[in-house]
Amino acid sequence: MKILPKSIEELIDGISSLPGIGPKSASRIAFFLLRAPKELSDNLSTAITQARDGVKLCKECYHYSDEEICPICSSDERDKSVIMLVEDALDLLAIEKTGDFEGVYFVLGGILSPMNGIGPDEIRLKELLDRLKKSKSKSKEIELIIGLNPNMEGESTALYIQKEIDANKDLRGKVKITKLARGLSSGADIDYLDEYTIRKAFEGRSAL
Ligand SMILES: [Zn+2]
Repeated sequence: MKILPKSIEELIDGISSLPGIGPKSASRIAFFLLRAPKELSDNLSTAITQARDGVKLCKECYHYSDEEICPICSSDERDKSVIMLVEDALDLLAIEKTGDFEGVYFVLGGILSPMNGIGPDEIRLKELLDRLKKSKSKSKEIELIIGLNPNMEGESTALYIQKEIDANKDLRGKVKITKLARGLSSGADIDYLDEYTIRKAFEGRSAL
């Protein structure tokens, strides 16, 4: 016997496919939406559609943006010779929230994970090298801060990037690579860390 109408079951299925939401929370959210004023679900579905269809990726850092170049990359107050490499927009937001970082970012869009079929072509490795070359022509020295999660995949991605930079005649010896250090325990997830820990890790960065 079906206890719930199909449309509600589909709503619960949809919500439970979101990260961090189990079937119980999904049911709770679904029933909340059904009880709440219709405006709330209308606004929510419009916001989802607009974000999906309307948002671009910044041409320089690949962060989400309304414009071709995001506000961070187009700001005169940011140091374009210091580039923080992050896995995704969540990590960028976590680091940006500390308010301490005055450089710019590059969103890699993933990390190397041969087990999950993610190789160099699946992440923005080529785009990163292009970006470094472009930055290099404008500034004497470029610092690339590896802001990837300190786990095995993050470490091997960092090493791969270093090898690629060393193998590139335009970049070899011209890009200083540093990594976030102190306070970041191995296996940590950057977007779950508090601002103090990220700030310490940023201050204590060391050469790779
Ligand atoms: Zn940008």
